[in-house]
Amino acid sequence: MLLRLRNHLSDAGRESLLSLCGELGYATRFLDAERRLLDLEGPPNAAARSRFEDHFAVAAVLDARDAPERVDACSGREPTPVRVGDAVFGGGSAALIAGPCAVHDQERLLEIARAARAAGATVLRGGAFKPRTSPYSFQGLGLEGLEMLARAREETGLAIVSEVLDPRNVERMHEVVDMFQVGSRGMANSPLLRELGRSSKPVLLKRGMAATVREFLLAAEYVLDGGNEQVVLCERGVRGFDSVTRNVLDVGAVAHLKRATWLPVIVDPSHAAGRADLVRPLARAGLAVGADGLLVEVHPAPEELLSDAGQAVSFDELQNIAADARALLSIDGRTLCEPAASPTTDSTPTPALRAEESLP
Ligand code: PEP
Ligand code: MN
Repeated sequence: MLLRLRNHLSDAGRESLLSLCGELGYATRFLDAERRLLDLEGPPNAAARSRFEDHFAVAAVLDARDAPERVDACSGREPTPVRVGDAVFGGGSAALIAGPCAVHDQERLLEIARAARAAGATVLRGGAFKPRTSPYSFQGLGLEGLEMLARAREETGLAIVSEVLDPRNVERMHEVVDMFQVGSRGMANSPLLRELGRSSKPVLLKRGMAATVREFLLAAEYVLDGGNEQVVLCERGVRGFDSVTRNVLDVGAVAHLKRATWLPVIVDPSHAAGRADLVRPLARAGLAVGADGLLVEVHPAPEELLSDAGQAVSFDELQNIAADARALLSIDGRTLCEPAASPTTDSTPTPALRAEESLP
């Protein structure tokens, strides 16, 4: 590891750092006459890296390739696919997640699930607990919404993903969802991430709207550190200065993440664009830079929607997006996972939430 020390550091400050290095088992060597570049040799240790980042004598950790965090590709780990039902994210496969922004009508949801499956989606999305910017906006149906998703899974065989907002809901939602979604607003909720680290279900982790790539990866690190390695990263656009799109889809970050980590990375063109007409081109862009899948909001009657109505694509457009995906993926020898030939006929009743239970 290579550290750059602060300017005008006192001898005592330097000594304090050197003694921390000794304590953590590192041999040290200054590389310059001014004693500002400190080279450390010792066992790989991501926690030690954080201790140095927090030390008052350290201006920057310049190189930490020998102390990789779990998500780092430089740890030598091969890209590792994540499976959710028939969907495989990564390892030459990509998958399409589709569904409404929020769940509020069982019949509509079933219609959307069937259309999503017909287009080639393998995972159905839908918010039951909605993270809204305003406390006065529709907050989702909660338990009832989860039950609707479970019913759609029974009928179509699609796996289901839904957002978890509160760490207290993880255990109960675990019985129903096939994948947890952590939203852009939830990415920095470390108690939630820690709780998901104890879960055995995959986690779809969205990038915070103003999070750096490193903050995004450290959020994933929380889940991995708890023992759950099934994390799929999702780029959903970051805040920009122009309102022509809702957010700025950071395709550069996707290309970078595909190299910097072994975790699968998908793109959400819906929340990036904020408008239905740009979802398809942004989906193409995401796949072209290597994304392992797409998350697309779809609805046949957006006027009924209580959230994100302007960005829902039609069923026909979803078919177009899936067709584009197949074509683009084939260019680099990858494939889009298709739903199994017939919906799951497993007679095990889907675990649904008991009506009398309530979640925060
Ligand atoms: C969503 O997926 O509906 C959502 C709220 O997304 P984000 O967290 O990216 O805003
Ligand atoms: Mn939405």
